[in-house]
Amino acid sequence: MPERRFDLGEREIPRKWFNLMPEMAEKPPPPLHPGTGEPIGPDALAPIFPMALIEQEVSTEAWIPIPEEILDIYRLWRPTPLFRADRLEKALGTPARIYYKYEGVSPAGSHKPNTAVAQAFYNAKEGVKRLATETGAGQWGSALAFACNQLGLECKVYMVRVSYDQKPYRRSMMQTWGASVIPSPSNETESGKKILARDPDSAGSLGIAISEAVEDAAKRDDTKYSLGSVLNHVLLHQTVIGLEAKKAFERIGDAPDVVVGCTGGGSNFAGIAFPYLADKIHGGKIRIVAVEPAACPTLTRGEFRYDFGDTAQMTPLLPMYTLGHDFIPPSIHSGGLRYHGMAPLVSQLVKSGLVEPTSYMQTECFDAGILFARTEGILPAPEATHAVKGAIAEAERCKQEGKAETILFNLCGHGHLDLAAYDAYFSGKLEDFALPQSAIDEAMGKIDALPRIG
Ligand SMILES: *Cc1c(COP(=O)(O)O)cnc(C)c1O
Repeated sequence: MPERRFDLGEREIPRKWFNLMPEMAEKPPPPLHPGTGEPIGPDALAPIFPMALIEQEVSTEAWIPIPEEILDIYRLWRPTPLFRADRLEKALGTPARIYYKYEGVSPAGSHKPNTAVAQAFYNAKEGVKRLATETGAGQWGSALAFACNQLGLECKVYMVRVSYDQKPYRRSMMQTWGASVIPSPSNETESGKKILARDPDSAGSLGIAISEAVEDAAKRDDTKYSLGSVLNHVLLHQTVIGLEAKKAFERIGDAPDVVVGCTGGGSNFAGIAFPYLADKIHGGKIRIVAVEPAACPTLTRGEFRYDFGDTAQMTPLLPMYTLGHDFIPPSIHSGGLRYHGMAPLVSQLVKSGLVEPTSYMQTECFDAGILFARTEGILPAPEATHAVKGAIAEAERCKQEGKAETILFNLCGHGHLDLAAYDAYFSGKLEDFALPQSAIDEAMGKIDALPRIG
């Protein structure tokens, strides 16, 4: 029997985050001011982010030390285990070795506390009293609620209306950690009121909720904004995942040939992949695969160009693969993967040919997730089933080619609060959406006048 579980000791939690930016030959172009279209300096972000995070956003240092106070909180669940999925391998009859890094052991059940704790820490250190944020499926809201509670900050969460109604347990989780949660669009912000005036029954979207949270932070002195994905500093904080995986693999005496992650805004993918991308940039043979839902195919069907991060066009223009900030994806069950854009760093890596994007339908991802639960025991978050599916596809290719490759994927969260999605699957109500090109063209048409890259 092969060894199954590879744990690092508490003292082996990484003490530095890894910044891929300095290693990239082609770097993403700068963000632009939403009004003037000119490149913005770090100061433009000061009303909504603390200085320490703005510095990390533009840092050219390869390694950034993790403060003791953050490590002290990471110790509540880190290091996370690396597992060899030998039961899944057997079920597939593949010669490949499949490993997964399990981030579902965190208090909120996903990778998101890795950055939530860091963001809450730097805000508290600079005297901020309150953080405002958005949440879709509720994973990010719960992670930030947990982090704010640990660091003595107030937390206000604008939760996309449809999730607020469908996911009462995520709401309870946030409230347990002391956050205040309201459905978005709300009557508490100008952007929310505008949407409600047009559509009183609006189901909301991540883009709308971001506008509300940014507005909240911009108009209050005691409040800053916090984003759970997309930005460089968020991706940076997630690199503890890949750094731990590397350390565990050194002990095993193996190394991945393929690394797989699912992509919503790009943060858990970056977390596992960036430390390995440094090897690839320096000539390593490794392949890096990003998996997204076919219903929100940002990397596989979007365009690399400037777009807003939110619906109300309040954020800077970011260079990214986008489906257009007005794109409202079909309501698939992977709420965390329903974002119109993608992290600029991940976008640039795809553009440069260093990352291979792929997409799958939600039912084939649930098929994969259920096979995983029935072999490995863990019930994956709907988002994470995309990574499971991607890893299984690689293992099946290995079987066809007769190759014993090593596959590593990020199991970025458990699905214990997403059982309604599993319920839909078992009662045959889970639908696949063949997204018509016209839906993408329509949203892309609306950003035609925005500045172009290059
Ligand atoms: C939020 C979330 C995602 C998507 O966000 P990324 O920034 O792309 O990682 C994926 N999986 C889980 C479990 C999430 O909570």
